[in-house]
Amino acid sequence: MIERSGNLIVISGPSGVGKSTLVKQVRAQLPSLEFSVSCTTRAPRAGEVDGRDYFFLAEDEFEAKVQQGEFIEYAGVFAHRYGTLKSEVLNRLRRGADVILDIDVQGARLIRQAALADEEIAHAAQFIMIVPPDIATLEARLSGRNSETPESLKLRLAGAKSELANFRLYDYLVVNDDLDTAAEELISLLKCMRMRTATIEGEPFA
Ligand code: 5GP
Repeated sequence: MIERSGNLIVISGPSGVGKSTLVKQVRAQLPSLEFSVSCTTRAPRAGEVDGRDYFFLAEDEFEAKVQQGEFIEYAGVFAHRYGTLKSEVLNRLRRGADVILDIDVQGARLIRQAALADEEIAHAAQFIMIVPPDIATLEARLSGRNSETPESLKLRLAGAKSELANFRLYDYLVVNDDLDTAAEELISLLKCMRMRTATIEGEPFA
């Protein structure tokens, strides 16, 4: 019997690229995928549910988790703090589940660094960036979303450009032009990841 640990699938992509919709669609088609719910200090948007989309925390609650070493990584994004909890990730990987992290470029960089010192993370981590077909498409999608103030829109666009400039930090790039095509490509990648030798435990053929 071949036993596997899970893949830690780090997915980043600039605001407005359609990453959440894409991830939602992929999860519906691959129900065994698990999603790491991050902590954030930002306020919930309409329709977001605490514990499902994020754990929405006050600044002091977030800081307490930092002090207690509960995060694998945490970063400041758009004037708020975001962090990935160890409790959302490590046990799932150990029992063989693939876990998706939807985090920004800073977070991906921190996971790369963590992998240098931690063999478990090194074996598990795979990095995927979701990109728009071009900047104009991204601008149109962001301003059509209507969830941002003009100031936050400007901030998110500038952030998007600098995130995209870091695409070489990632192993794979998925272009989200057509949602169904992008979902299919992402699913193919995730299926390939289940065949990686790095996640095989022990010596099954000894
Ligand atoms: P939003 O506020 O639009 O939900 O997310 C803003 C950005 O924060 C996105 O790029 C998202 O990927 C990133 N983000 C969400 N959770 C985390 C996290 O736990 N760590 C880091 N570093 N970034 C996160």
